[in-house]
Amino acid sequence: MTHMHVAGSIHADATSPAPVWLTRPEDVNALTPKLWSSSVTRDPDGVVSVAGLKLTDLAGQVGTPAYVLDERDFRERARGWRDAFGGWTVYYAGKSFLCTTIARWVVEEGLSLDVCSLGELTVALRAGVPPERIGMHGNNKSEEELRLGLERGVGRIIVDSADEIGRLERLCAELDTTARVMIRVTTGVEAHTHEYIATAHEDQKFGFSIQGGQALVAMVRCYHSPRLDLLGIHSHIGSQIFDTNGFEVAARRTLKLFAQFKEATGVSLAELDLGGGFGIAYTKEDDPASPAELAAGLREIIAHEVRGFGLVEPAISIEPGRAIVGPSGLALYRVGTVKVVEIGGGMSRRYISVDGGMSDNIRPALYAAEYSASLASRSSDAEPVVSRVVGVHCEGGDILVRDEFLPSDVRPGDLLAVPAAGAYSRSMASNYNHTPRPPVVSVLDGRVSTLVRRETLDDLLALDAGASD
Ligand SMILES: *Cc1c(COP(=O)(O)O)cnc(C)c1O
Repeated sequence: MTHMHVAGSIHADATSPAPVWLTRPEDVNALTPKLWSSSVTRDPDGVVSVAGLKLTDLAGQVGTPAYVLDERDFRERARGWRDAFGGWTVYYAGKSFLCTTIARWVVEEGLSLDVCSLGELTVALRAGVPPERIGMHGNNKSEEELRLGLERGVGRIIVDSADEIGRLERLCAELDTTARVMIRVTTGVEAHTHEYIATAHEDQKFGFSIQGGQALVAMVRCYHSPRLDLLGIHSHIGSQIFDTNGFEVAARRTLKLFAQFKEATGVSLAELDLGGGFGIAYTKEDDPASPAELAAGLREIIAHEVRGFGLVEPAISIEPGRAIVGPSGLALYRVGTVKVVEIGGGMSRRYISVDGGMSDNIRPALYAAEYSASLASRSSDAEPVVSRVVGVHCEGGDILVRDEFLPSDVRPGDLLAVPAAGAYSRSMASNYNHTPRPPVVSVLDGRVSTLVRRETLDDLLALDAGASD
């Protein structure tokens, strides 16, 4: 979402269709460290390896396409967020990517876990995540989902609507229990990468409006409900956020609400959640702040606002997803065809088709998200040329990497690796064109483990009621 491509956005003196932001690499074989998990290197023989395992060997073992997670890198990132925000609670946002193994790693590294569906809650419980460390999100949680959460005693339910408050009260009465709840509020802040918008209008489906007064009403209602234990307020302002500006406005607006609640009830609320959305580098142009920088900035903002409103500082939590699992994962594809297409103005574009596509990474098609790619099965002395990496699907928009410099001799059989593919790729994958979803494997000390196996055509046919006729 950093770079939108419109006609004319290529270099004015273009001889190749490179967008303005994309600079020609000095060495097309070089791997930009911020894009990759910490163990990724190009070996002396030119092959890219992860955690001591060559991607050529990995492809031989598990096939392509595949999602590859660097276990140590994931654990270090999780711990890095926990340590940088010491004293605060860090919830890993399971929607970015969740399976039982990941849930266990998250808990082992001292984090808590956010879920936002019955499916994610089921995975978390199956993994043995202590229920008190689970937070439940969702704007339309089912009764089944809420009941399971209440029966197992989840740590908090982030309440999103007046209907949900009533539903929770009824379920709590039925189960003779109480629910620990936070009120999801809309602050009117919408943040994306370097830009954020702070407005009064909040035209989206999540939460209770602060501006419209519904948030305070909901808080007071929960506070007075014998079945609900109101912990505090939750705010989530966006995704791919690179700095603290948007959080500053959101913190001011939420803490003002704390002050209003205190005025109305005499009670200081105990908890504030600032949500997730911390950005990562998908291309060389992206420059996200480190957890340490963000932590220092957010601590200062909170301390300042708490002082300003004369409040006792609440316990704070955050919910990074992408920033933990994104850079730990790469997507590995095999090249099938290469085509050079004349696009006018004396320019041509190189289309490299790989064996995956929008079914395993919908983000470029859905959000115009940018990615990068590197030739992984060998190095090359060939000239870098602007290339577009596309998939196998029957859609012109089936693009994985819109623009990237790749060696001009990329050919069928080569492996391409797309970095920063750990988040929102497998978790948003589909079976479009009856395509089985790729496996998720992890690598540690040169050894591969399967986290989620590859889907098969038999898996898909098993759902097809007429298939056995
Ligand atoms: C999506 C989401 C997150 C995680 O966002 P990331 O961009 O992966 O950090 C956290 N909290 C809430 C409420 C979300 O909806």
